[in-house]
Amino acid sequence: MLFEGQTLFVTGGAGFIGNTLVRRLLQRTAARVVTLDALTYAGNVLSLGDAIGDPRHTFVQGDIADAATVAELIRQHSPRAVLNLAAESHVDRSIDGPSQFVQTNLVGTATLLDAAYVYWRGLSEADANAFRFLQASTDEVFGSLAADEPPSTEASPYTPNSPYAATKAGADHLVRAYRQTYGLPTIITRSTNNYGPRQHPEKLIPLMAMRALAGEPLPIYGDGLQVRDWLHVDDQCEALITVLDRGALGETYNLGADDPRTNLQVVHAICDAVDTHAGRPAGETATLITHVEDRPGHDRRYALNSEKANGLEWRPQTSFSAGVEATVAWYATNRKWVEAAADGNPKKRIGLRPRG
Ligand code: NAD
Repeated sequence: MLFEGQTLFVTGGAGFIGNTLVRRLLQRTAARVVTLDALTYAGNVLSLGDAIGDPRHTFVQGDIADAATVAELIRQHSPRAVLNLAAESHVDRSIDGPSQFVQTNLVGTATLLDAAYVYWRGLSEADANAFRFLQASTDEVFGSLAADEPPSTEASPYTPNSPYAATKAGADHLVRAYRQTYGLPTIITRSTNNYGPRQHPEKLIPLMAMRALAGEPLPIYGDGLQVRDWLHVDDQCEALITVLDRGALGETYNLGADDPRTNLQVVHAICDAVDTHAGRPAGETATLITHVEDRPGHDRRYALNSEKANGLEWRPQTSFSAGVEATVAWYATNRKWVEAAADGNPKKRIGLRPRG
C-alpha cells in the first residue's frame, strides 16, 4: 500500500483542502499523518471527523511560523514529506488586512522550509532522496488572463494582483530558492479554485449554496463574467497524492479541471441544484441573484494548462454538475458543521461547548 511505514506532515489539515487530504490519506494509503494547524477562523477540527482518534493520525494545534514547534514536531516524527497547506486563503480578507497574509503565507512558509532543510540535511542518503517538501499554490499567482490568451503553463510569468496572490507567489519563490540554493527536494502544485464539502462558508460556492437554500439574496461581484476553472476537492487531493508519489523533484504541476465557466454560470448551476434539492419550481432560486460593486483588483480570468500533471496519469474525475449537486446537498444536510464553521467562537469548531 502507498506510503507504508511513512509519516506525512500536513500543515493546514483542519482547513478545507487539508481535512479532505488527511482523511483521504488515512483511508487510501498506509501513511501515518501528523497534522499541524493553528485553528484560525478557517480551521475546523470537526472537519477531520473520524481522523481525530485514528491511531495513525496525530493532530497538533500550532503555528507554522513558530520555529521551535515546527522543528520539534519534525524531529519527533521524522516525516517522509512535509505538505504545506496552511495559509490565509481568502482574497477579500487579504484586501482588508494583508499583514496576516504576509505573516502566514511568507514568514510561515519560510519557517517551515528552514525546519525542513535542517531536518533533511541530517537524514541518511536514502531518506534524504525520498524526502519531499510539497507546497500547495494557486493559479492566482499568474494574475488575470485576457479572454484570448492561452491557459497558463508552469513556465508562465508571475503577475499577482491581490495581497493573497502576492504572498502565495512569494512563497513559491521561497520554495524555489530552497531548491536552487540548498538542494531541498521540493515540489509545487498550483491549482485552480477548489469546491466541495467542508469549505468555509465565506467562499463563493458554499456562500451561494447556503444563501440560496435559505432563500436569501445572492450578491455577485460586478457583472459576474469573471472566468474560473473549478476543481473538486477530491480531485485536488488525489493530485497531491499522485504528485507526492510520482512527481519529479523540483518540478511544478498545474492542477485544473479544464472546464472554465463564469461566476454567473456557477451561481446559476447552484440555483438549479437548489431548485432540485428543495423541490422549488425550475428557475425560482435564480431570481435571488443580484449584482453588487466589484471588488478592487478582481482578476477577470484564470486558466491553467494541466498537461504536465495529466502526464502523471492524474485526471479530474468529478464533473462540475455532479460536484455542485453533491456539494449543495452536503451543505443542506450538514447544518451543525455549517453553524460551527461560521461561528466566531472557536470552541464550536473543535466540538466543545462554548462557555460564557
Ligand atoms: P483554508 O483557509 O480552508 O484552510 C487553511 C488552514 O490553514 C486552516 O485550517 C487554518 O487554521 C490553517 N492555518 C492558517 N494559518 C496557519 C498558521 N500560521 N499555522 C498553521 N495553520 C494555519 O484553505 P484551503 O482552501 O484549504 O487551502 C489550502 C491551501 O491550498 C492554501 O495554501 C491555499 O492557498 C491553496 N489553494 C487553495 C485553493 C482553493 O480554492 N481552496 C486553490 C488553490 C490553492
